Amino acid sequence: MNGGADFDVVIIGGGPGGYAAALYGASAGLSIAIVENDTVGGTCLNRGCIPAKALLQTAEVYRTTNHASDFGIVADGTGTFTADWAKVANRTTGIINQLVGGLSGLIKRRKVELVKGHGRLTATGAVSVDGRELRGRAVIIASGSVPRSIPGFDIDGTRIVSSDHSTRSDALPERVAVIGGGVIGCEFASVYTDVGVDTTLLEALPGGVLPIGPDPELAGILKRALTTRGTKIHAGAKVSPPGKSNGGLILGFETKEGSEKIEVDQVLVAIGRRPVSEDMGLAEAGVRISAKGFVEVDTTTMATAKSGVYAIGDVVETPGLAHVAYAEAIVAIKAILGENPIPVDYARVPWVVYTHPEVAWAGYTEAEAKAAGYDVVVHKHKFAGNGRAMIIGDTDGLVKVVAEKDGPLLGAHIVGPWASELISESYLAVNWQALPEEVGAFIHAHPSLSEAVGETMLAMTGRSLHG
Ligand code: NAD
Repeated sequence: MNGGADFDVVIIGGGPGGYAAALYGASAGLSIAIVENDTVGGTCLNRGCIPAKALLQTAEVYRTTNHASDFGIVADGTGTFTADWAKVANRTTGIINQLVGGLSGLIKRRKVELVKGHGRLTATGAVSVDGRELRGRAVIIASGSVPRSIPGFDIDGTRIVSSDHSTRSDALPERVAVIGGGVIGCEFASVYTDVGVDTTLLEALPGGVLPIGPDPELAGILKRALTTRGTKIHAGAKVSPPGKSNGGLILGFETKEGSEKIEVDQVLVAIGRRPVSEDMGLAEAGVRISAKGFVEVDTTTMATAKSGVYAIGDVVETPGLAHVAYAEAIVAIKAILGENPIPVDYARVPWVVYTHPEVAWAGYTEAEAKAAGYDVVVHKHKFAGNGRAMIIGDTDGLVKVVAEKDGPLLGAHIVGPWASELISESYLAVNWQALPEEVGAFIHAHPSLSEAVGETMLAMTGRSLHG
């Protein structure tokens, strides 16, 4: 179908957005090229989601082994386990290599051409890569994002680092300051605290932990859990550029309690990411770029202002999540195919923060639902009384469900064990606009953590079992 062009679709960027568009497009019979100047898999696979979650799993094992006696497992000697971070890094690299290998194989099998190099959009809508011109019937920009920093915090990869470094480091700092209490900051604070690093979390906004996004009650439960385990959390913190000390760095910050200076070995800057939209000829070719650097798109098709050019993933101002990039890839390919894509409902995407405890949600919070004018009913169910939660020794947290009075579900919010997996059912129910009594009538296996979801839905009907 490429009518004179070299490919049906040329994709700039081989991260979750780009490779998903390539694989989905190829499975629909399109001929595809991906232009990528690094390893396929992008940030998510190489220095983001995958390694970060591998480290969080290490923290989980560390917590469990050091509390093995709670489960009746008694060790000889001291019974204390420590983390060998070089081995941890090795394990993480092994997982990444396996996934990159699998992805590369999949790309080859689908006959997607992988072109190494830096892609630039030309005025005619082709993509030039180191002198070679690739003409596509359509082009998808999936160039992703990179960590942002703060003036005066020059990221050097050793003392002042971003998640690019922390996900792949083979050594642990003894004392770390994490700047930013968002998703990345909280996940690393959780890992570091659990493996015995002296961890200070500095967040500019009030609240201190996940101030934007989840229901504040869930964020509060995570904050309490981190604080109990030893994370020092400062909300409303204004940090100053660090100075060198004999042993590390001196970092000053101000909060409403006053100003303070701490000495740390490393500062992790986790204040957000910025889109990669420069140096690709986009604006010159007629693609509109916002003041913040995002590629502007019509989210019903992911089309940019330039005909035949689409953009997906972190380069677009939608939730910066790999699974959102996957969904946008499908929308773009369907639009290119002339099919009628179902646009992503951005207000109802699943969010997961893989801290301990995990935090996950989909849809409106109670406050958002009220602000949107709904007459709202809210029910909660704690994991404390759940048999499976007791069995796995992890009872902190709750399920909170928001529905319209006498109407469908509007949002589901979970903090606690395996919230990352439990959210799938609630995500479906919220997106299907199911009624609480419909979900409450479904059977949840016993004993299972999912019963907490079922119990919350049942409570919405005015009756309950264990609630
Ligand atoms: P974020 O936007 O989630 O959080 C950044 C935090 O830094 C905010 O709370 C903000 O108030 C704070 N901040 C900003 N400037 C500050 C300053 N000068 N001092 C102190 N605090 C400051 O960004 P992130 O955590 O860096 O994550 C980046 C992106 O990666 C996000 O889009 C996120 O969704 C994505 N991500 C997702 C996951 C996940 O889904 N589990 C994991 C990692 C990253």
